[in-house]
Parts: sequence; C-alpha cells; structure tokens
Amino acid sequence: MKENHMHYPHASMTRLYLPRRVGGKGLLNLADLCRGQEAGLRDYFLKKDLPIHQAAVRANKGYIPLFLSEEDHRFEKTTLQSRLDEWSVKSLHGRFHAVLHKDNIDVEASTTWLREGTLFPEMEGFILAIQDQVVATNNYWKYILKENISDKCHFCGTITECIQHIVDGCPVLSYSKYLHRHNNVTKIIHQQLAKDNGFLREESPHFKYQPAWILKKDGVKIYWDEPIATDHTVTHNQPDILVLDQKNKRADIIDMAVPNNKNVSKTEKIWKYQDFAIDLKHVYQLESVRVLPVVISANGLVLKVLHRSFEHLRLPKKLISQCQKATLLATACIVQKTLGMAG
Ligand SMILES: [Zn+2]
Repeated sequence: MKENHMHYPHASMTRLYLPRRVGGKGLLNLADLCRGQEAGLRDYFLKKDLPIHQAAVRANKGYIPLFLSEEDHRFEKTTLQSRLDEWSVKSLHGRFHAVLHKDNIDVEASTTWLREGTLFPEMEGFILAIQDQVVATNNYWKYILKENISDKCHFCGTITECIQHIVDGCPVLSYSKYLHRHNNVTKIIHQQLAKDNGFLREESPHFKYQPAWILKKDGVKIYWDEPIATDHTVTHNQPDILVLDQKNKRADIIDMAVPNNKNVSKTEKIWKYQDFAIDLKHVYQLESVRVLPVVISANGLVLKVLHRSFEHLRLPKKLISQCQKATLLATACIVQKTLGMAG
C-alpha cells in the first residue's frame, strides 16, 4: 500500500484495521483472523473429552501451532474498543481521534466519505495522511523527522507551518485557495436551493456552476454573496446565501464555514449575522429570520448543527456527502499544490 501511495509513511496503522464507520480503512487484519481460528480449534480440542480429543491434546507437541499440551492458552482478542483506544493514545494520530469525538461532531456523517469509498485509493490515503498530520510540512520535518530546518511557513514566513496552518490558517493562502474551497461548497447548497425553488431545471457539476447574484420568482429571492442594505449599518450584511421569502414572511441566512480542527467548535460565526437578521426582519416586516450555520471542517468533520440547518432548508441528506467530498478534495488539492506533493 505504501509503494502505491495508498498508505503514507508514518500514517496510522491502527486506522487500517478499524471499520470505516468509525474512521478507519476497514481492512481485515490477517494476524487477528489467524489467532482467532487457532483459538477456536484449541477450544474444540480442549473442551471435548472423547479419547480421540484427549489423545490429540497429549500428542500435540507443536506440530501445528495450537500448543494443546501447554498450560497457558491465553488469547486476547483485538476488539473494536481496543483498537480505538490504541488510536486515541497516539500523540500525533490521536489528535484527529480527539476532535472526531468532540460533543459537537457527528461521527457517522464525518465518516461518510470513507463509508461511500468513492475516492481513488491514492486520494483516500492522502486525505487520511492529512487527518493523521503526517504530511511533510516544515513543522513535521523539524519536530517529527528531526531535520535542522526552520519550521516557518513557506508562504507567510511568520507562522509555524503545521498541516492545520496550510489547510486553513495561512493568511497568504486564505484569499485565493480557502475562498475557492468555501465557494465550491456554498455552490452545492445554492444550486440545490435554486432547484428546489424552481429556478433551475438542469444540474451542473458544482465546480462549473456559477450562481447568479440574485434569483427572483413568486416573491422568493435568493441572493449569492451580495451586500443587502438595511436601515442601520451593520458590520456583516453580506451572507453567503440569503433566501428571502416575502410571500411567507421569512428569511434564511446561510452562513458557510470551512474551519480547521482547532476552530471547529468556535461559534462566533453563528452570531456574526444576528444584527443583520434583526434589521432584515424589521425592513421586510418578516415573521422569522434564521441564521443557519453550515459547517464542515477542512478535513471533513461534519458538525451536528449542520443537520438542523439542512432540515430547516429541506435539503436532502445526500448533499452532506457532496459537500464533504468537495471540501476534502479541495483541501487535498491545496496541500498538494502548496507543498508540491503527489497524492
Ligand atoms: Zn503561512
């Protein structure tokens, strides 16, 4: 797997054998299977007491690896929990395990991309390496591989270049690379809303889809990244998407975010549009205005809060996996291009 770039050097070996639903690659572990078979056969001989079984126990002196005549037959089965524990205690790989199991993260939705398994194996391996934080950044070279180099970022030159920095934290990359990824994911949501509201008949791949700045029909307007004037001047009046339904007197402000692991639980973005929501309600005399956060972390973690937003917008569940895949592919592309690696 390493030779064919499906498993990165120093990536988690434990994750190879964990089921995909908990964040692993779901391979069978041959050593475990073999030990299990041996334990089953041993039990069979030791628990039956016909003379032939007893004779076999006495005669077995290591011809086959059952070691029936030996006293100690302890066999510890590797369980799912023991593998999860093994993953969680690793100082580097365990960091992703820790954020995956935060209260606000939906583990099942976060592992959708692994369960669906539609990415190329090389890409899958590369994304797992990003999650495992074993991609060769300057920080990795200096502190993990002990090379005598500067750990500062190639691009901004001021901040430590760790994988989270490249994925979401670099000021030099933010206006081009991160914005492009953010817009790609927002386009998926916009296209679905446009379809659901009767603005579109045909779907195009999200990366080719160019949202109109405004779509309007039958009292419903959908704005894309457009500043909206209200009575007061508010700092944030340009939501990613605004669905203004004047017929039903309501509006939905969609706030997309693709943060890194560290910022995944920060909620300040959710409050960013509160003043705008109040103004909007007043200006258009609406009955309800909701701010709906849609948050998928740069390495694919899905926040539980996303489900509420999706349910409110009546978006199909399959869109979560599309958004997640678009995020992960964009992140992989950022890492490959910036660090000049083949994935
Ligand atoms: Zn930087």
